[in-house]
Amino acid sequence: MRRALVCGAGGFIGSHLVNRLKNEGFWVRGVDLKYPDFSETTADDFVIGDLRDQYLVNNIVDQKFDEIYQLAADMGGAGYIFTGENDAEIMHNSATINLNVLEACRRRNNKNIYYSSSACMYPEHNQLDPDNPNCAEDSAYPANPDSEYGWEKLFSERLYLAYNKNHGMNCKVGRYHNIFGPQGTWQGGKEKAPAAICRKVAQVGLDGIIDIWGDGTQTRSFLFVDECIEATIRLMRSSFGGPVNIGSDEMVTINQLVRMVSDISNKEIQINHIPGPLGVRGRNSDNTLILEKLGWAPSQKLRVGLVQTYEWIATQIKTQSNQKIM
Ligand code: NAD
Repeated sequence: MRRALVCGAGGFIGSHLVNRLKNEGFWVRGVDLKYPDFSETTADDFVIGDLRDQYLVNNIVDQKFDEIYQLAADMGGAGYIFTGENDAEIMHNSATINLNVLEACRRRNNKNIYYSSSACMYPEHNQLDPDNPNCAEDSAYPANPDSEYGWEKLFSERLYLAYNKNHGMNCKVGRYHNIFGPQGTWQGGKEKAPAAICRKVAQVGLDGIIDIWGDGTQTRSFLFVDECIEATIRLMRSSFGGPVNIGSDEMVTINQLVRMVSDISNKEIQINHIPGPLGVRGRNSDNTLILEKLGWAPSQKLRVGLVQTYEWIATQIKTQSNQKIM
């Protein structure tokens, strides 16, 4: 039986990945500080533990795994990453996890590791024009990410690639661009734009007003989680190591995203623009390389995933308010 280790298995993407690997017949060990927030884990073995602890990491990497996915990171939405208040923690926590996992894998001769980097490692100066952001893989250097979260991702990418070079490992690096979908964080400050907008729209009346950070003309693209898992697995099992973008190239402004959700909800939502942390002005996944190397491109439009996400968040809100009444 094939065996997989998923670090960050209690998180959004990690919990979806565990489900996919189980459906494929893998024996799966998950590790995280917590169980998944919205469903039971399907992992065969789930270790609650802190990957900053080298001792724990050595214990969980105690055997040969066919595939290891390293998704654990200290992260969140713009309200967590871009305010500057959490920079030291973000850098320390995530870098320590990557240093520990990689070294433990090397010692146990576990070579096949997938590392989840982020589009946040791209230089800010290529993302100032919302209509023409440049996120081609080879535009990464000279480096100038706009957040310490992005700098840590860049450092860790290099760490995995250095282990390939010096220790003959087979690490793969995917750069995720805004992944969204059901079972993602939707409240509390670490949620991303699609989830935050779905929540705000679901919480107001038919002609409600919602707050949006900035003027809403900043652009982004969003990839549905099932598509992200498919691309991740294809990269892991290919002979190509990356770094490669894993995202959608259907770029929208935040105002357009609000209009899409408003339409899905059958509401006439008005936007109230307020100051807030924004990140770069424009970002879109450049999918030229992944199409060439893996033959992969997203299979569905943004709206299709948004419908599922809106319905899931609206149900979460209803459940929460019913629980408060009881
Ligand atoms: P997530 O926050 O839901 O999952 C990360 C998990 O890591 C969490 O469950 C968290 O508890 C766990 N974790 C954090 N510190 C830990 C520690 N010290 N020990 C053990 N577990 C720890 O995030 P996600 O959206 O599932 O993202 C997964 C990965 O993909 C992350 O590395 C993230 O940086 C990267 N990524 C995600 C996106 C996105 O849009 N979701 C975009 C770019 C990159």
